[in-house]
Amino acid sequence: ALATLVGFEPVLPLPRAAEDWVTARAALRRLRGTAGATPDSADSSSGGLPAVPGASPAGPCTVRVEDLTVRYRPGAAPALDGVGLVLRPGRRIAVVGPSGSGKSTLLGALAGLVTAERGGVVLTGADGRALRAGAGPEGEAVRRVMTGLVTEPYVFHASLRDNLALARPDADDEEVAEALAVAGLTEWAGRTGWDTVLREDGGSVSGGQLQRVALARAVLRDPAVLLLDEPTEALDPETADGVTARLLARPAGDRTTVWVTHRLSGLAAADEIVVLEEGRVTQHGT
Ligand code: ADP
Ligand code: MG
Repeated sequence: ALATLVGFEPVLPLPRAAEDWVTARAALRRLRGTAGATPDSADSSSGGLPAVPGASPAGPCTVRVEDLTVRYRPGAAPALDGVGLVLRPGRRIAVVGPSGSGKSTLLGALAGLVTAERGGVVLTGADGRALRAGAGPEGEAVRRVMTGLVTEPYVFHASLRDNLALARPDADDEEVAEALAVAGLTEWAGRTGWDTVLREDGGSVSGGQLQRVALARAVLRDPAVLLLDEPTEALDPETADGVTARLLARPAGDRTTVWVTHRLSGLAAADEIVVLEEGRVTQHGT
């Protein structure tokens, strides 16, 4: 019996290795595709990401959400149901509504990360060129100017400085410091230093710090349309109010901010408030 067991043991890891090979091969194929793309260093708006065909518009952008309907599963109730909105340059628009009302889905659709069943999102640049949000090169061109905090916040295994600089490699120290200040990280960053290495698993930063690092990165990137999905969710009320106040105190210029929040405090500073309920806009005003 022992001989059988011993004879078997060396081959036990093989099925597992075969499984890993399938995943590794798929990952390798994706990496090869990325490596084949030629980075366009002249396009600073790409923020250091590999360039794709279809240039992003420069300057102020107007976003039209038209009859946007999103359904995650066939037959399920729509997460968004015929939403229509116009987001004008320079406006700070707060999106509020109960949990599950479709706020994150709306931001996901703006960033082109969610597929519409009907309708869609069109971004028009100052040059009049209209681009549709979504997948593919055109969606990528949109995503370069309409982005922010739309997915789970993350840090890379790199220094704090590098974690921010990946949003805008040409940012100087003053701009980095300003982004840290808006996110309420000045004190923490001063204590730990900008060269402290953060860990991918977030082990070296708390949930609130992780979220604020991601927020500082979005602020530093400064896209024409800044999307923020509950940027103060993991923060205590006092810190959250400070971050909100500083975010809204910044001169908007042509920058549009779409900011999802479940907290009603600080909303008076927004230019517009959109109320979502069960996937529909039920109120829109000041
Ligand atoms: P909010 O951000 O306002 O809480 P969401 O946009 O996250 O709302 O969700 C809207 C609706 O869509 C909810 O009913 C939610 O359960 C559903 N939903 C959201 N994301 C997914 C998903 N990835 N798969 C299936 N259903 C989802
Ligand atoms: Mg949400």
